[in-house]
Amino acid sequence: MDRLTRLRAPLSAGLIWMLTAFASLWLSESGGAVLLIWLPSAVAVVALHTAPVRRWPGMLAGLGAAQVIVVLASGFTLAQAVGLACAFAAEATVCVSLGIWVLGERKRLPRTMRHIAGQFGAAVAGAAASALLAWPWRADVQPEGLAWWFLASVLGILVGTPILLHLRRRFGFDDPPVEPLEAPAAAGLAVTTAALFVLALIVMRIETAPLYWLLVVGIVFAVVRNGQLSAACGVLAYTAAATVQSFGHRSPIVALDVAPFQAGVWLQIMMLAMLATALPIAAILMARTRLEAQLRQQNLELNENLSLLRLAENLAGIGRWQYDMRSGRQIWSEQMLELNGMPRELAPDPGDVRAQLPDGGAILFGRIARERETREPYEIEYPLMLADGSERRLRLVARNQFDPAGNRVGLFAVAMDVTERVQREQALERERERAMQLAIVAQKQALTDQLTGLANRRCTLERLERLVAASRKDGEPLAAVMFDIDHFKLINDSFGHATGDAVLVRVGELARREARGGDLIGRVGGEEFVWLLPGLAPGRVPELAERLRSAIEEGSAAGGLPRVTVSLGHAQFRPGDTGERLLARADAALYEAKEGGRNRVRRAA
Ligand code: GH3
Ligand code: MG
Ligand code: MG
Repeated sequence: MDRLTRLRAPLSAGLIWMLTAFASLWLSESGGAVLLIWLPSAVAVVALHTAPVRRWPGMLAGLGAAQVIVVLASGFTLAQAVGLACAFAAEATVCVSLGIWVLGERKRLPRTMRHIAGQFGAAVAGAAASALLAWPWRADVQPEGLAWWFLASVLGILVGTPILLHLRRRFGFDDPPVEPLEAPAAAGLAVTTAALFVLALIVMRIETAPLYWLLVVGIVFAVVRNGQLSAACGVLAYTAAATVQSFGHRSPIVALDVAPFQAGVWLQIMMLAMLATALPIAAILMARTRLEAQLRQQNLELNENLSLLRLAENLAGIGRWQYDMRSGRQIWSEQMLELNGMPRELAPDPGDVRAQLPDGGAILFGRIARERETREPYEIEYPLMLADGSERRLRLVARNQFDPAGNRVGLFAVAMDVTERVQREQALERERERAMQLAIVAQKQALTDQLTGLANRRCTLERLERLVAASRKDGEPLAAVMFDIDHFKLINDSFGHATGDAVLVRVGELARREARGGDLIGRVGGEEFVWLLPGLAPGRVPELAERLRSAIEEGSAAGGLPRVTVSLGHAQFRPGDTGERLLARADAALYEAKEGGRNRVRRAA
């Protein structure tokens, strides 16, 4: 079974070669027609081209058998038959080997000018090899006959090979290296080929005017319209017309005053010239088609990327804006329009948008103008008033685009809505502010006596330490006066605790009134106070203490409160003193004042 499959290709190749050869010979011998192309050459070339190299011997054997049969049937000797079969084999082998070498790979399509020229060269080389090898076996033929052999083979290969490869593809054989034709292209090709056939029939029949150039125009037209394959089909149509025209030993070209055979060779040369003209055009067209396809593909990818970009922008809430300063053209993404409070339909160019911005674009466009030299991306935040009266803040990251000469030629910017972020930040700032105020109040409370609003004990002692340190350093005088309400327990007992509190507040007020700027009055115990007097000449301290004593005696009874008095003891800072020692001495003096009958001032020893 496997062997049968392997035999099938060589057998069918041989069979087709034989049929084509018999048909050709019948046309020329029985029909008396001038044969311009030798199609069996193309059959052999296609057979080798579509088979892997390891199958070539089998293929050549199948073809060889067919060739020997045909040559023998034409009345040649066996030796001649074998010799000619060898010539045919050499032709196909040389042509296909060179062709594959030019393409680089057997199944590659001829795409470039080099490929097409290479295949042309391969056909010429193969046909030349075969004509030369055939010569010794055809001693009967004139050099003219060999020229015919050569030209018919070249044309046969160049015309037949692409057509046969397409037919193979069409009829579902393996994948030969051709591009499949779409149905409309195949129909167009068929119509053009038929038209060329008719054109050739007319041109060849007109005796009076040499209109052969029309055939060249026809082929070029066909190639431009239908591509490379059309050149082969066109030349095939022309040769068919020539054969029809020459049927019954007539000249294929009536206007040419030569023997039919010479006219045939003349036509062959013209066909070859036409192919040589048309195929490069086909190569250029193929390159163009390829570029177009590439461009379309790139466009497609670009569009896909753009869609992805839009999707990402929508997801991220980012808008995009581009401005070409040379043309004044803008590109707004839909998202950008929406962010700026404009309808999405205005994309891509809404024109002048300054009016849409609350400040007429002063912030935005002012900044853009100022940044005209900036090469790095820069950020702009600007407010926007929406139609519903709400405000939106946009953050824009912009980048200038420069031409090679360094002139700014465009701008590219992306923007996002930062309203919420800004609102969050502002709320955070307000909270921070509030917390700081609270901290300040708390700190103040920590240092203040709740009832009187005077400095509390802690605050008083801290201040004392600082004043002591300062006096120690610069030798400035510092006095401390301690005073205590006399018989305060009696007040509480007689008028109640609330009145006692009110008395404490009153005494605090009176003391504050007597204090100078820079002094400190502190409440350091229940009804015990300290007055710190920095920078006062020591001689003046008793006078001020006395003034406070009398102020309390005079002023405490106002507003229905019971009259109270205080006893005071004062001490002067001495070098080497601590705050504690200074207070202790003042306290001792206060004790003395109490002992001495209260409501009086005593100086510390
Ligand atoms: P002396 O003249 O010896 O100082 O007599 P005194 O009664 O003032 O002496 P003492 O120090 O024994 O009494 C102080 C009283 O002060 C005791 C307490 O009930 C009262 N006191 C302390 N703190 C407060 C306060 O915040 N409010 C009121 N209303 N009374 C207080
Ligand atoms: Mg007391
Ligand atoms: Mg007291």
